[in-house]
Amino acid sequence: MKRIAIAGFQHETNTFSPIMTTREDFNGELDRDQLEHLGSDHFNSPVSGFYDKAKHFGFSIIPLVDYSAEPSNMVPRDVFDQLLGDILTRIEASDCDGIFLDLHGAMALEGYVDGETEILRAIRSRMGNIPIIASLDLHGNLAPKSVELCSGFVSCREYPHVDMFETGQRCAVIMDYIMHGGKLFHAFRQIPFLMPTSKETTFREPSKSLYRLISDVENRPGVVSASILQGFSGADVEHTGPSVLAYAVTRELAQKAADFLFQGIMDRESEFSSDVPGAEEAIADAIRLSATAVKPVILADIQDNAGGGSSSDTMFVLKELLNQNATGVAAGMIFDPESAAAAHSAGQGAKVELALGGKYIAGDSPLRAAYKIERLYDGIVTGTGPMTRGMQFSFGKMALLRLADILIVVGSRREQAADQSIFTILGVNPPEMKIVLVKSANHFRADFEPISSHVINVLAPGSDVEDPSTFAYNHLRSGVRLKGCGPLQIKK
Ligand SMILES: [Zn+2]
Repeated sequence: MKRIAIAGFQHETNTFSPIMTTREDFNGELDRDQLEHLGSDHFNSPVSGFYDKAKHFGFSIIPLVDYSAEPSNMVPRDVFDQLLGDILTRIEASDCDGIFLDLHGAMALEGYVDGETEILRAIRSRMGNIPIIASLDLHGNLAPKSVELCSGFVSCREYPHVDMFETGQRCAVIMDYIMHGGKLFHAFRQIPFLMPTSKETTFREPSKSLYRLISDVENRPGVVSASILQGFSGADVEHTGPSVLAYAVTRELAQKAADFLFQGIMDRESEFSSDVPGAEEAIADAIRLSATAVKPVILADIQDNAGGGSSSDTMFVLKELLNQNATGVAAGMIFDPESAAAAHSAGQGAKVELALGGKYIAGDSPLRAAYKIERLYDGIVTGTGPMTRGMQFSFGKMALLRLADILIVVGSRREQAADQSIFTILGVNPPEMKIVLVKSANHFRADFEPISSHVINVLAPGSDVEDPSTFAYNHLRSGVRLKGCGPLQIKK
């Protein structure tokens, strides 16, 4: 029976983020009980999917550790060395025949160094030619060297990432193929433009039809796996940006598959432009549409997305909602541990003066007002939507505040509003609201789009990059256009 070690090390690094990264941000001890729990198909994670399929192939699974943190600025070298050292020690002691890695693919270390290349280089130097299969987020920034070092990468192919379980299953299929002596040749192509976040959801064009091309090439004889990565524009590093990757039984078949996907993206380049309205226009639209709609209008503050490394504490959109006298609004989740603690001290039903949010992003300021404390919570929140079903989170002290006719969810750990549970845990039922403001770029679509009449993206300041041509890149390689048909990056 082949012994497969499982380890994870994930960080989506945003070099524009005002949030620094520390050792305490990474959690991820994996034990067999947790893995058995994860192995059920109730959990949308690559580890869960790999484990599920591994049972089918008769692998013996050795769970090691699965480190991950919310996106933030570069990973300090000492933190990286400590966590990687732990992973290497565990892998060496595991007596494994193969390794499954749960990676993101956009980790940048202090000094703008590619994290995944360093992880793979270190494992290769200790473990030699052992098969290493790694899952990736669709927002992976892949360095060519990491592709050389890994036996096989598989990226998820839905955004919102509702298919992480299936991604893990696909990794297990490739592991089984290699374990039976199957040969894999790869072809890798970097795309010469960056994509605005608002055009990345696979629920809409242009990404919807683009991602259908993957099954077209995977149906070709001899093609084993194909991935399209959109990259993560929040990282100002050399290899930021979209790429395609194909694996096949011959080099020629892999190249043909990769070229086909590359062309599929290039054919759509002009559609990857950014046209998101600012807060004034977007909120006026939301108020007008919500007056007659039977379901809520979802307003997405796409650049202040904690899931892309922003602070999720900006007040620009909330202030404009107040300015335009919006009613029936629920907003979440605002990251503000101080305000949450003050609300808990004051108690439910009290009215308290707070300087809410506005502490991280340039040009922002707290929303100072007297807030009514509607509800308090401090405990586990269990995901209920398609992305995080059954998963358990803790956002620390949470509070539901009321200001005018706006209900505001405040939490003490950064997390994007990808799931209705952040509202329902505090007694707010999103379908009953007129307007729901979410701090999320696209993941909210999985759980909020089905309950909405309209979805309106809002462009307000934040550090999860929507239009890369409006950010300054110093480390990105030359020759990349900063959006579809956009200005060319020239590295100084
Ligand atoms: Zn992602």
